[in-house]
Amino acid sequence: MTDQLNFLPNTNIEILTADIERGKIRHVVFDFDGTLSLIREGWQKIMIPMGVEFLQETGTDESEEQLNEVVNEFVTRLTGKQTIYQMIELAEEVKKRGGSPKEPLEYKHIYLNRLWERIKHRVEGLKSGELKPEEFIMPGGYELLNALKEHDCTMYLASGTDHPYVVDESSAIRVADYFGDQIYGALDDYKNFSKKMIIQKILADHDLSGSELLTFGDGFVEIEDTKAVGGIAVGVASDEVGLQNVDDWKRNRLIQAGADLIIPHFREWRPLINYLFAEE
Ligand SMILES: [Mg+2]
Repeated sequence: MTDQLNFLPNTNIEILTADIERGKIRHVVFDFDGTLSLIREGWQKIMIPMGVEFLQETGTDESEEQLNEVVNEFVTRLTGKQTIYQMIELAEEVKKRGGSPKEPLEYKHIYLNRLWERIKHRVEGLKSGELKPEEFIMPGGYELLNALKEHDCTMYLASGTDHPYVVDESSAIRVADYFGDQIYGALDDYKNFSKKMIIQKILADHDLSGSELLTFGDGFVEIEDTKAVGGIAVGVASDEVGLQNVDDWKRNRLIQAGADLIIPHFREWRPLINYLFAEE
């Protein structure tokens, strides 16, 4: 074993698994928020303080810093799953501290209302044309989607965000057409949706072997679910603000989840496509 990092020559594309079976990809799953869309950038800055606030209300003697750590841990661990799971965990943490928690769905609505305050100008600005869609898509996103389309890949959007928002926001950044009716998002009946279900359905419907499936994601969940079926997982460890560098903390999480490659954005889509389709 060596600590030497392994990059595709002259790129920031880091290879973690050297022996993936390349050149067979036919179906591609994209996570939405933090992977393709930057509209909800900063959602953690809403969810984490909200969690801390409700834990403080229990009268616990833990410091704000300690509570921050608690909330940060479960929010991160569950990133990529539907939001409701983070709220279920919040309710449990409130209960553990002797508080009487609200229903997880109620926490979710409080969170969504607060988040909406942060992002509504983005969505509205995109719709009115005041803001440009290119500013809210991961750099290189359109080029990557076009290249995958040219390779005859079927593409899926799978998000832990509620379905109506995913439909609305994917159209606001003008990527909805790449996915057609294969846009999946969380449902109120949350047990009838998961990224795992979608990934398994794609495999079963098309009788695929693992290496025919490729996933791009910035969450633990989609990377883990993809690796569980033998697919190829590309972790998008974008810093989401500067959009140049890998976020080390995200990178480590995505590697733990089993990512085969790590990229900071899609700007290097061409060498990435060449590599994945074994065309170099
Ligand atoms: Mg995401």
